[in-house]
Amino acid sequence: MACIFCKIIKGEIPSMKLFESDKTFAFLDIQPLSYGHSLIIPKHHGAKLTDIPDDQLHEILPVAKKIAAASGCNDYNILQNNGRLARQVVDHVHFHMIPKPNEKEGLGIGWPAQ
Ligand code: 5GP
Repeated sequence: MACIFCKIIKGEIPSMKLFESDKTFAFLDIQPLSYGHSLIIPKHHGAKLTDIPDDQLHEILPVAKKIAAASGCNDYNILQNNGRLARQVVDHVHFHMIPKPNEKEGLGIGWPAQ
């Protein structure tokens, strides 16, 4: 299996892990667009959202919410790209959580997510 995210799930490629369950994995993005930029992925391999069974997706947004809250950032983007025209680079479904830090408040003290 050549998928880099499958290798990250298996621990064959190191990552800064934030969350793991039987269906879901979350880790810090290696080229963050902002401090705390995270990726939340189903363990089930599939390139596009339509390739992933519904029951493998139920935890994704709850985990994204938890990680966003732990970042201490009230403003953030949740993004999910499908296909080259949509700028998808890694062909394993992933949801980006990209904090938009407030200059005055910065990031909170809850990081990383427990
Ligand atoms: P996409 O453009 O496919 O939606 O985003 C792929 C994301 O995966 C990018 O933000 C990129 O920085 C991240 N990424 C690619 N390879 C690795 C890796 O080996 N480790 C980690 N942590 N992130 C990666």
